[in-house]
Amino acid sequence: MVKANPALADLPLRPELVGEEPYGAPQLDVPVCLNVNENPYPPSGAMLADMAQAISSGVYHRYPDREFLRLRTQLADYLGHGLGPANIWAANGSNEVMTHVLGAFGGPGRRMLTFTPTYSMYPEYARNTHTEYVTAPRRVDYTLDASDILLAIARVEPTVVVITTPNNPTGTTTPVTVIAEVLANTDAIVVVDEAYQEFARDPEATALSLLADHGNLVVSRTMSKAFAFAGGRLGYLAAAPAIVDACRIVRLPYHLSAQTQAVASVALRHADEMLARVDDLRATRDELLRRGPQLGFEVVDSDANFVLIGRWADRHAAWQQLLDQGVLVRETGPEGFLRVSAGTPDEMAAFYAALARVDAPRMGE
Ligand SMILES: *Cc1c(COP(=O)(O)O)cnc(C)c1O
Repeated sequence: MVKANPALADLPLRPELVGEEPYGAPQLDVPVCLNVNENPYPPSGAMLADMAQAISSGVYHRYPDREFLRLRTQLADYLGHGLGPANIWAANGSNEVMTHVLGAFGGPGRRMLTFTPTYSMYPEYARNTHTEYVTAPRRVDYTLDASDILLAIARVEPTVVVITTPNNPTGTTTPVTVIAEVLANTDAIVVVDEAYQEFARDPEATALSLLADHGNLVVSRTMSKAFAFAGGRLGYLAAAPAIVDACRIVRLPYHLSAQTQAVASVALRHADEMLARVDDLRATRDELLRRGPQLGFEVVDSDANFVLIGRWADRHAAWQQLLDQGVLVRETGPEGFLRVSAGTPDEMAAFYAALARVDAPRMGE
């Protein structure tokens, strides 16, 4: 008999989960949140009213459309490149989309390959789908070329390769020509995670342009970042219909609620308004890239809506000093760096003021 209110150790937890903690960035109630790369500009009142209207006219006593064809059609139209609904899959954030991809193409005895430093959620998706997580390092400037990727593929023999561009947490872009060369030389599923593509200096330089020629390519996108819809939870992918069919096998039935479909559909209908601040956020990022070095900091060139800044000998001390002044950034990435998301002008002013008062020693000091 198991006693009431048992400790985890009293329960038959999967062995590989013993000692694991639920993962996620700290969610702290502070005035300035520059830690999870959200778009800091909320939707307008008119947009919220449209969303409320869509929700209030929804059907809730029936299950929602399992195939959410209307939303998939809107997503395909948004992406362009000749894509249709059969090329699109979506779920509650690209974290769930990636779990579907790995559920279908990873699994026991199979490997997923990524290039570090990169997104800290990938190992979780791998673990949850019983896929072995293997990494290869990026170059010292965090770039990747085709030979780096192909050599790692030859060594690891993964069934799923994930290339993140612009990369999180470094902001580094991997050129489409590099991805094309990789695709010409591998049969593995190649997932190009373009979560931050809309912030890139050249957003049209996207792996979507390679989909017509490559059936093993998956381009992953999200409405959480540029699209100002992190709370709505909608991530999606574009790929050959067979890949979409594989995701349809492993998804939980009715995974996208009627509310999610309705609200995401409104947001997509008003894509221009949802994306209206992307230019501002790009400019904010560029200012951070310019101002950081002027203030004596090292920055890493970024095509996303965040910048790595440092380097501190004890970055946790610097993170804490910023937090003590009401500014939350992310303690992640290569040694000594902190990652700062592009915020509103007021938020950036608060960040620069707080930064000027941080006295944690820098590396080499
Ligand atoms: C934020 C982010 C995502 C998106 O996550 P959602 O689950 O869609 O909110 C995907 N990939 C990377 C690299 C990210 O940084």
